[in-house]
Parts: sequence; structure tokens; C-alpha cells
Amino acid sequence: VTAATLGAGPVAVVIVRDGILPAGASEAVEAAAHRALVVGSGARTAAAELPAGEGCWWTETSGQFSPAVLAGQLAALLAATPLVVLPGSPDGRDLAPRLADRLDRPLLAAATAIALHGEDDSLTIDAELLRMDGRQTLPARCREPAVATLVPPGHRHEQGPAAACQPLEVSLPTVEALADPTLIAIQEPRPETMDLADATRIFGGGAGLVSSGTDDRSAAAIFDRLRAVATALGAAAGATRVVTDAGWLPYDRQIGTTGVSVQPELYVAFGVSGASQHTGGLGAPAHIVSVNTDPSCPMTARADLGLITDASSLLAELARRYGVADD
Ligand SMILES: Cc1cc2nc3c(=O)[nH]c(=O)nc-3n(C[C@H](O)[C@H](O)[C@H](O)COP(=O)(O)OP(=O)(O)OC[C@H]3O[C@@H](n4cnc5c(N)ncnc54)[C@H](O)[C@@H]3O)c2cc1C
Repeated sequence: VTAATLGAGPVAVVIVRDGILPAGASEAVEAAAHRALVVGSGARTAAAELPAGEGCWWTETSGQFSPAVLAGQLAALLAATPLVVLPGSPDGRDLAPRLADRLDRPLLAAATAIALHGEDDSLTIDAELLRMDGRQTLPARCREPAVATLVPPGHRHEQGPAAACQPLEVSLPTVEALADPTLIAIQEPRPETMDLADATRIFGGGAGLVSSGTDDRSAAAIFDRLRAVATALGAAAGATRVVTDAGWLPYDRQIGTTGVSVQPELYVAFGVSGASQHTGGLGAPAHIVSVNTDPSCPMTARADLGLITDASSLLAELARRYGVADD
């Protein structure tokens, strides 16, 4: 396999660990005209799972993920490739800027959509780029070869059958030694800061946590308490749009059709009515607990356990019992 083979069209570069595909891998391959280069441990097995019907290559690497060395190696292979798309997974986001630098190309980071038109002199890449903490999508047009990262969709991709294409092995060229970071330790994500989409337990807060007439500062303190209680129980804090619109929690905590799509095993809803725009991003949790004064609201109707009580008082009691009360 040569740089010319890989240069015949766009290519998705997918980094795998232990054969596990990162979130957004299939979407990146679809955006790259169904052509994929899979790199990492277990690359061969992972390659067979991708919808890469137009070309699929794999290369097995062992040991520590070395993005600087890998960028140097891949740059040699991808020199003629007009568009390189990486899933916006942690490894993809690490590798993409290094690859763009080695290839001396622009980086289209955090694209939600990307398309390549034409070739050589008429080459155009159109992308939608997510900016301002995900609140704005900006159109971008690039008239030269580029590297892009594609934001993984919040929901887990329904894995369709992999397109029939025999993955081919590629060997990586040897490059001069490049300085790579040294891995000291891998730590589990902290529930209070982890991506909501990755959380297996979520405590969601809605307007019912805040009684009318409460000022913004006191309301924000209630949501600090929600975060603290959630963290104490190994959960991430989420919210409805009413809450994020009011600025009581940041936008990246909003669950729903215009927020993050999540897939927790447990969802505990405090004062959440369960509007379709909220539950539309909730996935299918195995367990739902709804704390609400209205026994017939949609969230409680959907719950395994409905607690008909004042959500804020229950939260305060939980904070006290778990030793995270702020007063
Ligand atoms: C285009 C569009 C996109 C949208 N996208 C999203 C989205 O992505 N995510 C999202 O969440 N919303 C979204 N919304 C808004 C959505 O329609 C709802 O308005 C919102 O989800 C309601 O939030 P809530 O449950 O916090 O508030 P409310 O609907 O006001 O519900 C408050 C709940 O609290 C209960 N309650 C009241 N007092 C107490 C108390 N003391 N103790 C316990 N419970 C109490 C009430 O019974 C009620 O069930 C969108 C709307 C539109 C039009």
C-alpha cells in the first residue's frame, strides 16, 4: 500500500486500543467516503467492524500510544490524501493537530459535518465547525488539503453491518525519533468533569429544584449541591434546558435534543417534567428515578421509582447524609 493508493480519496484515521473503536469512528469513515486506516492495538479486528466499503487498511502498533511518532509515520503515508478525518475522540484530538502540522495543512477541528468536492485545483472542503463550547456552528470552506476532527454524535452509533471489503495490512515507515509525552498514569474520569455522554450515572436537575422568586446566585448554589451529591455517588450532573438557559449549569450539561445525548444506566431526575426535547436525548436508561411533586408528569410516568416530594429538600438531605452539605 502506497501513499498514492491512500491519496486516491479522503481517509478516516481511526486510532484503536485493544481493538475497541472510539466513539464516532463509523461517522468519520462515512464522512471520508467509506475509506479507513485503522491504527493501534487490535487494529485488524476493529477494521473489520467499520463501514469502509471503499478501502480499508490497518496497521498494528503495540505499546504506548505515541502521537508524535505516529504523526510522523502517518504523514508519510497520507501525503497525497486530500482530506484526513479523525473521530474527535481523545486520541483523535491528540493526533490530528500533530498530523496537520507534519503535513503542513490546516486543521478543521470539531467539525459536525464535512464534505470534499472536486480534486487538485478545484478541490473544496466544506465543513460545519462547532465553536463557543458547542453553542455555535460556523460554516468553513477550505480550498486545499486538510485534516479534520469530526465531533462524535452524543448517542452511541447503531453499528450497521460492516461493508464487505477485505482490510489490507499497511506497514508504517520508520521516521526519525520525535519527542513524545511520557505516560505516567491513566486515571479514571472524574464524574463532575467527565463528558456527560460517557457517564453511566447521571443526576439531572430541572426547574423544579428552584422555587419561584429564588435569585440566580441561590439557584446556582442548588445546582452546585446537585453536582456535589452526584459526585459523592459517582454520578455526573446534567440538566434541562431551562436550567442551562438560566445559566445555573453550563450548556455542556444540557441533556436533550438540542443538548447532549446521553446513555446512562441510571438517571435520577430532580424536578424534571420530562418534556420530549429532554427525554429525546436520554437514551434508554435501565433505571430511572424521578423526584417530582407531580405524580403524573411524564418523567415520573417513565420512572421505575417516583418520589413525590420536594426535590430541593431531598437534595439537601442527601447532601447532609453524604457529608457534602455546604452549610
Ligand atoms: C426547539 C426546542 C428544543 C429544546 N431542547 C431541549 C433540550 O435539549 N433539553 C431540554 O431539557 N429541554 C429542551 N427544550 C425545552 C423543553 O421543551 C422543556 O421546556 C424543558 O425540558 C423543561 O425543563 P424542566 O423539566 O426543567 O422544567 P418544567 O417543564 O418547568 O418542569 C419542572 C418540573 O418540576 C416539577 N416541580 C415543581 N416544583 C417542584 C418541587 N418543589 N419539587 C419537585 N418537583 C417540582 C414540576 O412538577 C415539573 O414537572 C427545548 C424546547 C424547544 C422548543
